[in-house]
Amino acid sequence: MYTIKTLDLHFQKEGHTIASFLISDQNHHVLVETGPESTWLQLVSELRKHQLTPNDIDAVLLTHIHFDHAGAAWKLAAAGAKIYVHPIGLPHLASPEKLWQSAAQIYGEANMEKLWGSMEPIEKEKLIPTADFETIGIGKMAFTPLHTPGHAIHHVAWKLDQCIFTGDVAGVKINEGPIVPPCPPPDIHLEDWKESMEKILAQKPDKLYLTHYGAVTNPSQHFDQLKEVLDDWAEWIKIHFQAGTAKELIEKGFLNHTENQMTTAGTSPAVQRLYELANPSWMSVSGLLRYWKLKEAGRI
Ligand SMILES: [Zn+2]
Repeated sequence: MYTIKTLDLHFQKEGHTIASFLISDQNHHVLVETGPESTWLQLVSELRKHQLTPNDIDAVLLTHIHFDHAGAAWKLAAAGAKIYVHPIGLPHLASPEKLWQSAAQIYGEANMEKLWGSMEPIEKEKLIPTADFETIGIGKMAFTPLHTPGHAIHHVAWKLDQCIFTGDVAGVKINEGPIVPPCPPPDIHLEDWKESMEKILAQKPDKLYLTHYGAVTNPSQHFDQLKEVLDDWAEWIKIHFQAGTAKELIEKGFLNHTENQMTTAGTSPAVQRLYELANPSWMSVSGLLRYWKLKEAGRI
């Protein structure tokens, strides 16, 4: 038997924004996601509640290498854990300079440390590439990586019996709020994303564990709603892309659009703030504009 615990990393001092999942049998401990390095002390204190330290973690299973999911992986590697990651993401954890620079372009260099903390290279021996459907046994637990592009080209969802840890491919749902798709640049790909949703559903999961935030128990209904919002957002951006609207205006208008959707769904302003922290709307504007640009140029 094993247990699954949700660790609340209190990103930017707010609960229910970023989770890490601790899965343990009697002698082995696995983390799915590490959160960013900026929440490291919170991760350590959450582990302590389960009488553990970072040295007790045998393996880290990453869904992808964005900072909010993998930023602290190097610290767990330094404490002895093996890090499992998609082969396309792996080189960026061994030499994170490019990853850091591209994030700095999105968030602004001045905001990087406050948001994400620091990132250092991980020794090659600690990094293990995943292969689609090739199960990894850790103690009594068998984790199967499902390569699931769409949010990021190097995205992996992790299956453990009838549970699937979905990273960002099942979107964001915080508290009782709506399900929304995080669409940061540079890899957003609508068709791949929808195929990935089908791939997850084909596994007939009972439960999905979302990094933002927590467990949901109605996978097929969940993905139906996610698809609907993904199409709505993509169409909204497409219209403004085709009209040649200035990016600043698109960002303002899109924030308005998503705020209206949240308010209509009965989401309180306090919860809406958590959504903006976990998944800023301006970032989805960049990701979806890039998708339509590449599409128009015939590059995807
Ligand atoms: Zn994320």
